[in-house]
Amino acid sequence: MFSRSLQWRLVFIIVAITFVLMSVVWVFLNYKVEDIFYNDFKKSISDNYATLNINEQMTSEELLIRFKEDPVILSQFISSIKSYTLIKDETFEILYSSDIWYLEDEIGFRNEILKSRNLMVVISGEGEGKGKYLTKTAKGDFYDYVIRQTLVDGDYILFFKYDRSQALSIISEFSQVIISGMIIAVAVTIAIGVLLSKTITKPIVDIIHKAENITSGDFGQVLEVKSDDEIGKLTRTFNYMESQLKNMLLELSNEKNKFEMIINYMTDGIIAFNRDGFIIHINSAALSVLEMEQCSLTFSGIMQRLGLNHDLSDILKNKNFADISENVRIKDKFFRVQFASFTDKENNVEGLITVLQDYTEEQKLDNMRKEFVANVSHELKTPLTSIKSYAETLLDGALEDEEIARNFLEVIYSESNRMDRLVKDLLLLSKHDSGIKLNLTRISPINLVNSVVSRMRMSADEKNQQLSVIELDKAPDINGDEDRLEQLLFNVIGNAVKYTPENGTIVVYVGKNDTSAYIKVVDTGIGIPRKDLDRIFERFYRVDKARSRQMGGTGLGLSIASEIAKSHGGTIKAESEPNNGTTITIILPGIIEEIQEQ
Ligand code: ADP
Repeated sequence: MFSRSLQWRLVFIIVAITFVLMSVVWVFLNYKVEDIFYNDFKKSISDNYATLNINEQMTSEELLIRFKEDPVILSQFISSIKSYTLIKDETFEILYSSDIWYLEDEIGFRNEILKSRNLMVVISGEGEGKGKYLTKTAKGDFYDYVIRQTLVDGDYILFFKYDRSQALSIISEFSQVIISGMIIAVAVTIAIGVLLSKTITKPIVDIIHKAENITSGDFGQVLEVKSDDEIGKLTRTFNYMESQLKNMLLELSNEKNKFEMIINYMTDGIIAFNRDGFIIHINSAALSVLEMEQCSLTFSGIMQRLGLNHDLSDILKNKNFADISENVRIKDKFFRVQFASFTDKENNVEGLITVLQDYTEEQKLDNMRKEFVANVSHELKTPLTSIKSYAETLLDGALEDEEIARNFLEVIYSESNRMDRLVKDLLLLSKHDSGIKLNLTRISPINLVNSVVSRMRMSADEKNQQLSVIELDKAPDINGDEDRLEQLLFNVIGNAVKYTPENGTIVVYVGKNDTSAYIKVVDTGIGIPRKDLDRIFERFYRVDKARSRQMGGTGLGLSIASEIAKSHGGTIKAESEPNNGTTITIILPGIIEEIQEQ
């Protein structure tokens, strides 16, 4: 923890610096104190010696008297620290010494001072005894200063001794002061270091916490920038990075949501598998194709369910697997199954996407188209065959018989009329299919119904049917193409007349339903069986083909009516009970302003 925390490392560095600095000061002071004492010792000798005026005409006794009388020597060199000793050079006999040690132990003193390098140099005549050498003895270490003096009575050596103990005691006092100073300094430095490093490490620790929170998805508040230094800049940059990251994540998650929404609302089923064949995404369309609420199947399970036997690794190995397209049938629905791969950044295949495309509608349309062509051919073939055979019979001689010829020609005429009607109806449907352009005018539904009914009356009268119009409410005017709407009513009311036996009743009700107008054609005819009710608006659908043909129907009347209603934004529906009659209801949107004025 100690070495890992930046704060403690900083504290340690500061303390170490303080410690090193104090130690250097300590060593320097030690050296300096000793130096000062030694220099003072040396200077006091050299300065004084000159003033003592010692010369070669003096005897050793006179020299000693001078020494003993000199106030400086008296005050300084007769102590336990400093002393002087006069030694006869030839015999090395100590004539006098002010040293206490000498007074206590003459021989011991003599032996110890002989260890002095300066003294040895002077004795041997190899140089001057003025070097700074420390001589170590049992009674303490000393420095010395040696002068050779020639006097009338011979050569003498003056041995000045300075005991180091005084300097040492001062140094030890210094050391105590310095050590306690050092302890205080270290304690203060630790305190300052902790505070100082906290100002550095606190924002960094904050950033670390924040970064940890961001990693777990919690962005929270921005960090407070407390200073303008590098740490402040780091915090500011971190905040900026955080906001950028947040925006980027938001953008990414929006993109992801959008993508998921698109995938989920797609009508095509999408299933994404990883390389091991496990599902990583499946949309609701795919789930409904598989008739499942949740899917835990693997690739092979899904293939099995679709009735295919593809192997994932085989597909991924196949370079052209995007070309694989399979058609499958699930219940009454048809699906096209296609495959596509998705890759990672290095273009390695990460997995496979399976697309299930519902082409039931397409298939239905295709079937309807085929059925339509077959129906048209069949409808045209029947009258054509009879026209052809009647014409042939006429050519073969029937022309001679005027009555037969007339009958045959009437058949030919009626068959060609049927073909004409059929072709006209087909053309009309084709116009609707390719988007008919309506010639819109304001139309009153009741007027429209009355006009059609009055023209149908003759046919109804022929069958002794009662055909009437009842206006239940005032229906709103409609915006429509009069010719087309008339055609619609002709087809519907015409059917009612056609499929209602003699003496039947046909009532056309006109009214309003909210903002729409409705027209209800109610007959007491043969009715339509329940199973056929939904299909009568299909092209060529007839409940009873023979009866329809006999009535001159093409099987297109109601599909045309339905197309016209649709092109006006309306609807048409049928209700019926076999043998009890049929009700066809047409609802057309009314003109809204008109209703508000009412
Ligand atoms: P068609 O030319 O055969 O009349 P439509 O498209 O007009 O063709 O009608 C389709 C079929 O619906 C008819 O063949 C008939 O069987 C049935 N149908 C239509 N209207 C009525 C009705 N009012 N009563 C009974 N059956 C009807």
